[in-house]
Amino acid sequence: MQWIVRVTMLLALSVLSACSVAVAQDDFEARRGEMVDGLVEDGIITDQRVIDAMRAVPRHSFVPQGQAGSAYNDNALPIGEGQTISAPSIVGLMTEALQPQPTDRVLEIGTGSGYQAAVLSKLVRHVYTIEILEPLAVSARNRLQTLGYSNVTVRHGDGYLGWPENAPFDKIIVTCAPEEVPQALVDQLKDGGLMVIPVGEAGWAQKLYLMEKKGDRLERTELADVIFVPMVRSDAQ
Ligand code: SAH
Repeated sequence: MQWIVRVTMLLALSVLSACSVAVAQDDFEARRGEMVDGLVEDGIITDQRVIDAMRAVPRHSFVPQGQAGSAYNDNALPIGEGQTISAPSIVGLMTEALQPQPTDRVLEIGTGSGYQAAVLSKLVRHVYTIEILEPLAVSARNRLQTLGYSNVTVRHGDGYLGWPENAPFDKIIVTCAPEEVPQALVDQLKDGGLMVIPVGEAGWAQKLYLMEKKGDRLERTELADVIFVPMVRSDAQ
């Protein structure tokens, strides 16, 4: 008799936990919807494709498990190795500024969690993304693969060098801050291409710029005051 009770209890428990997983997923989706509505209301994202991409990508799957409950607040969050995933409003602002097109091949410097790459992957042909810290590169690659983002390629390497084998790129997005725009990135951007990049000293007033390559010049538009982690040099590792 006792085993029947035990099996029934086990069954009941597994049904309950399956339900709570389903409820948690619905809850995440609802909160993600509210987060995106907030970005739209604040005028940060207006392009319907960008809105749909941000509605689709589960940010809670890109943060450490203990942080999942905060994934839909508009904050940067720690992702390990002393690095952070950018706040959703910054991801929205940068993605929209890049004017992503379905035919674009995009280079990202600073893979981090892979979240920005995942959002872009919904909007462009292919995302090439470089991360200097190997543990982050490996975990982002695994996460993106598990979640089915098949048009993203992650490389462990130094973003100052760009990715010459796949250049030129239609767009470049840099999610760590160099003190000056790295020349290799300018060289690897197509003429007429766009680059979104924060520039400035670590911990100091950095500015986020949209740059358009016109011949051998970059035409810059200032987008916002920002704070990003520094873009480090590989010899400082
Ligand atoms: N885009 C990320 C957030 C990036 S945080 C996301 O969506 O989660 C910035 C990242 O840039 C960090 O992971 C840091 O290790 C990386 N980074 C710093 N300097 C770099 C360099 N020279 N080349 C490549 N990545 C770099």
